Amino acid sequence: MHSVKQPGLLPAISPATGKKLADIKETPLHQVSESYSRARRASSKWSDISITARLTYLKKLKSVMVDEMDSIARTISDDTGKPLTEAIVADIMPTLDSIDHIIKHSEKDLRRQKISTPVLLFGKKSFIEYMPRGVVLVISPWNYPFQLAMVPIISALAAGNSVILKPSEVTPLVGKCIEELFAQAEFPQNTVQVAHGGKEVGAAFTKGKPDYIFFTGSVRTGKIIQEQAARDLIPTTLELGGKDPMIVFADANLERAAKGAVWGAFTNSGQVCMSAERLYVERSVYPEFLQRLKEEVGILRQGTGEEADIGSMTFPAQREIVRGQLEEAIQNGAVLETGTSPAEWGDDMFLPLTIVTNVTQDMKIIQEETFGPLLPVVPFDSEDEAVSMANGTVFGLNASVWSRDMEKARRVASQLVSGAVVINDVIISVANHGLPFGGAKESGIGRYHGSGGLRMFCHEKAIVEDTG
Ligand code: ADP
Repeated sequence: MHSVKQPGLLPAISPATGKKLADIKETPLHQVSESYSRARRASSKWSDISITARLTYLKKLKSVMVDEMDSIARTISDDTGKPLTEAIVADIMPTLDSIDHIIKHSEKDLRRQKISTPVLLFGKKSFIEYMPRGVVLVISPWNYPFQLAMVPIISALAAGNSVILKPSEVTPLVGKCIEELFAQAEFPQNTVQVAHGGKEVGAAFTKGKPDYIFFTGSVRTGKIIQEQAARDLIPTTLELGGKDPMIVFADANLERAAKGAVWGAFTNSGQVCMSAERLYVERSVYPEFLQRLKEEVGILRQGTGEEADIGSMTFPAQREIVRGQLEEAIQNGAVLETGTSPAEWGDDMFLPLTIVTNVTQDMKIIQEETFGPLLPVVPFDSEDEAVSMANGTVFGLNASVWSRDMEKARRVASQLVSGAVVINDVIISVANHGLPFGGAKESGIGRYHGSGGLRMFCHEKAIVEDTG
């Protein structure tokens, strides 16, 4: 059972079994200022070495990760309740892809760029230089606790910054594992420090005046961090929630779309910011599509072993959010097409994969991020109606549009207010094609991944030269 937290220790609880796995020592708040002093000293040494030398360390990190793949995957699975395969495919692989992308492109992306000089400035030459910002504070969440901590860390490091990571207290074993990986890869001391603890530790490090804050988590916490950062004029990237719509037109490949919807909605037990959280289906194929969805859901196996497709919820409070949203929807007339009434869930962390119909746009299940295995399905009659419903929340992270008519699909994609839109597929990994990742509206501020994501961890400096 979930044990009580002892002072100074963070309990790591397996959500799948309820057993305590370990206690991780919390970072005492009085250490914040000393951590920043160490990080500043490390950052000045790290930024002095060449990008090529920095990449040598990242190559070593990659080889340690490959050697330790099984044990990292086991730690992620134990800490989150996701199956081992999912830990490898969705947490470790995207991190390796990102390291590869950085190794391949960062020397070019961070090189001094020559800009064509206007004739008026005849004789002068113009350049842009990319200077490291200094100390980057990365605050990371629990749903993809490895990838969402590692990618900003390695990007910030490649750009010449030192890093302090504050991983989620919900998955403290992964935080510890990251700390050990950097030690094993023999990074210079204090180039990466890990501060273990809950929101008090996060808040204390946010107030410690880093040079940049990279936050991934809830909208609520993102706003608190932005407020604090504003007081010290600290720039931030905020990667927040999503309520990702998926639109299926009648002329789509319905077989693929149904598989995509079920995968998008239920992978990682729905605890994904780039998922399918709402499904809009053209009315003429609605009954047929619903039937296909139910069949696809029936195939999925829940558990944490190698055979499993879908794991458990990662912590009880999240299960209660999902339960609350579904109860509200049912009270207002929603109908369960699969799954069981939330009253029957009890304390089980493996929630039924639930498809819900007869839902309206004003319900929480449509307006608020669910982060659980619930998929509301809504019919639509016209392209305009689909776009307006899809855009009708405060979020704008990811969306997907399904149609064989590419002109229509592109027209709809361009009208969606969203950081990303995928046509005829659902979740995308942006790690290996250099695309920007980030949200519109309350889904966040800023983009990472790709050249822009690397340069975001730098000051851009304009240099104009006259030979005199
Ligand atoms: P969730 O509620 O979904 O766990 P949060 O946004 O609360 O998401 O948490 C994401 C990360 O932000 C975690 O590492 C958490 O400890 C940290 N955090 C929470 N509150 C604060 C805060 N006030 N200041 C800094 N970090 C915080």
